[in-house]
Amino acid sequence: MKIAFIGLGNMGGGMAANLVKAGHEVSAFDLSPEALTRAEENGCAVFGTVQEAVTGVDAVVSMLPNGAIVDAVYGADVIGQAPQGALFLDCSTIDVDTARKVTTAAEAAGYAMVDAPVSGGIAAANGGTLTFMVGGTDDAFARAEPILAAMGKAVIHAGTSGAGQAAKICNNMLLGASMIATCETFRLAEKLGLDLQTFYDISSKASGQNWSMTSYCPVPGVGPQSPADNGYQGGFAAALMLKDLKLAMEAADSVDAEVPMGEKAAALYEAFAQNGSGGMDFSAIIKTL
Ligand code: NAD
Repeated sequence: MKIAFIGLGNMGGGMAANLVKAGHEVSAFDLSPEALTRAEENGCAVFGTVQEAVTGVDAVVSMLPNGAIVDAVYGADVIGQAPQGALFLDCSTIDVDTARKVTTAAEAAGYAMVDAPVSGGIAAANGGTLTFMVGGTDDAFARAEPILAAMGKAVIHAGTSGAGQAAKICNNMLLGASMIATCETFRLAEKLGLDLQTFYDISSKASGQNWSMTSYCPVPGVGPQSPADNGYQGGFAAALMLKDLKLAMEAADSVDAEVPMGEKAAALYEAFAQNGSGGMDFSAIIKTL
């Protein structure tokens, strides 16, 4: 297929390279010349405008920083410029309302569109092992699935338009809250005189077990290898966790949902980022406890 890829940063760069490896013809656009140079090295054809990149394509994939940019790029340069009937796949993490708004505008102009945010970081983007959670009609999902499968290990239909973004922010709100709960639990265990490896051995087999503990332990030297063993570098930046928690808070407000633990997690990550630690892995929040 001919696929335009817009936004070839940390995540999009590797994803576009995997589309090329799968045999697709990829036309790339990014505002950053460095991103375009890397895209060219990875076999993409590069273009100076979005309009040129989407000319003659079967599908458009985007991996952009936020909802305002997704709205602006699709509104100004993709809808009405890409060939009629083309499929749009926005893989960025954005708010549910903007995802639905852009899809509605695309459908009104004769396109199909899915929101398809990802779980998995830069390593998974490079390695083609992302998990995609997809919102859209059955027809749009059926068309999107083989394209997404070239970039990931799992492609799950979450529901109608916006459901992919809803699943993403609900998952990450749970992750943020469970990470903080795991961090404070280890600190309490330590202060109560428990050996942390022993506590891990117990809790990882007891009812406190959770992913933040057993797959991504915030304590160095305990559990499997994680960013904690690497000075809290790499992994999933606290600033990105904060972005997702803010999206979750907006979504909760919009449907009048009570999320006291999510609110607390958002406040703690906000304070952590404001102290200049936004670039550290999100498990580094243990240092503040
Ligand atoms: P990034 O900043 O590295 O990449 C974004 C790219 O978009 C940049 O290259 C930038 O130049 C480009 N861009 C910005 N505005 C543009 C425009 N108007 N037109 C064309 N290109 C434009 O960010 P990233 O880490 O790749 O994240 C992208 C998305 O993926 C975000 O929505 C993020 O929340 C989500 N995400 C990131 C991770 C992660 O671990 N980095 C994990 C899951 C989801």
